[in-house]
Amino acid sequence: MANNDHVNLADFMAGVARRNPGQTEFIQAVQEVAEDIYDFMEDKEDYHREQILRRIAEPDRVVSFRVCWEDDNGNIRVQRGWRVQNNNAIGPYKGGIRFHPSVTESILKFLAFEQTFKNSLTGLPMGGGKGGSNFNPKGKSDREIMRFCQSFMNELYRHIGPDCDVPAGDIGVGGREIGFMFGQYKRLTNQWNGVLTGKGLEYGGSAIRPEATGYGAVYFLAAMLRTKGQDLKGKTAVISGSGNVATHAAEKVTQLGGKVLTLSDSSGFVHDPDGMDQDKINWVKELKNKRRGRIEEYVAAYPKAVFHAGKTPWNVPCDVALPCATQNELLGDDARALVANGCIAVSEGANMPTNLEGAHVFRDAKILFAPGKAANAGGVAVSGLEMSQNSERRSWKEEELQQMLLDIMEGIHARCVQYGSDGKGHVDYVRGANIAGFKKVADAMLAFGVV
Ligand code: NDP
Repeated sequence: MANNDHVNLADFMAGVARRNPGQTEFIQAVQEVAEDIYDFMEDKEDYHREQILRRIAEPDRVVSFRVCWEDDNGNIRVQRGWRVQNNNAIGPYKGGIRFHPSVTESILKFLAFEQTFKNSLTGLPMGGGKGGSNFNPKGKSDREIMRFCQSFMNELYRHIGPDCDVPAGDIGVGGREIGFMFGQYKRLTNQWNGVLTGKGLEYGGSAIRPEATGYGAVYFLAAMLRTKGQDLKGKTAVISGSGNVATHAAEKVTQLGGKVLTLSDSSGFVHDPDGMDQDKINWVKELKNKRRGRIEEYVAAYPKAVFHAGKTPWNVPCDVALPCATQNELLGDDARALVANGCIAVSEGANMPTNLEGAHVFRDAKILFAPGKAANAGGVAVSGLEMSQNSERRSWKEEELQQMLLDIMEGIHARCVQYGSDGKGHVDYVRGANIAGFKKVADAMLAFGVV
């Protein structure tokens, strides 16, 4: 007689904590999902009996490896690299690579877990994975970045493949790094295939991939506002980050008539009371992508703006907020400040930027709150479309891809409403995203039996 049917939520989470000591981000991510899934599974015996949630919360595998490289002064440097392959029930593992000194196994496991639900929500056939290294790209020369990327790929290449695991970029990994890694993969395997996404347009990349995450987060925001008969015209927006996701979110908010008041980086945020138009956003893109500068330089170019060192932007009054920097950057007090200042909608461009307390504040206040796994899925969705284009050996037109991205974001919104609506006019998007993302993966796993 099986004795693990219907383990309750508290016991389930105690087990997750026991098996993953010290992995706070991973435990936090599982907790956030499990709260909703337990409710949904209440009357679904199969999911309990087959231990589906427990199996999704145990990565298929975690590969950890040494990455050594030589800096410009001839010193040998040693970093740690990882690839977490969380779940491939509905398609090849898919998820970004992060280079940042804060990267740990816990962070990559949380990201790979979240990615599993996000990829499912897109409606495309992609499983969940994530990888990265504690390498700090800041201040490194192009040649140092190249040597690091090549060394990283010297190990990673044996664990990935176009039908097995397809990584992409994330924090600290943009077009330059993808180019170096793809070049090394090709050299090692003598294969040209769609093993990485986020590639340059000249060598198999997809139009609108760089824009997709930020644009998608704003499309999702607009879809939420529409359920309340509103749009972005004239609305003030507070955005954190100044990287790929933040700058493209700012661009789309501006295009849809909103006024972007802030951008930030890990040193602080800039507040521009005049709003950031396309010229200013282009200036920030140039600063970050070409000159690799800091956001505080914005105030020298635009003197009406003010730089707030060491602060996050959540106390600036706004109608909508888009956290687009990193995990746990928006805490309980920040969420309370946003709600108190009249913010009506939050769309997460980053992964898990709001901590558990902050998420409960938004959910209790019943504002429109889109979790990252729904709102920022546009990036991986266009990566999925890049995989399709590579398999077909052709490139689709930008207009086609723009329409597909919009349709995919609308589809994710509809799935969240389907599972998150209380039937009285309120949608809990966190619940909707968790359940819709889970159900597809879970049903595929049921079909496979115990594997
Ligand atoms: P980038 O590297 O382009 O930009 C990251 C931005 O966040 C930078 O402004 C960086 O500032 C800031 N940041 C990073 N770490 C911290 C920190 N610890 N505290 C404060 N600020 C920080 O990354 P992306 O824009 O690609 O990614 C941003 C978020 O979006 C991440 O959570 C990522 O996982 C998520 N995401 C990205 C996707 C994509 O397509 N790129 C897809 C889906 C999600 P600084 O320069 O000072 O480090």
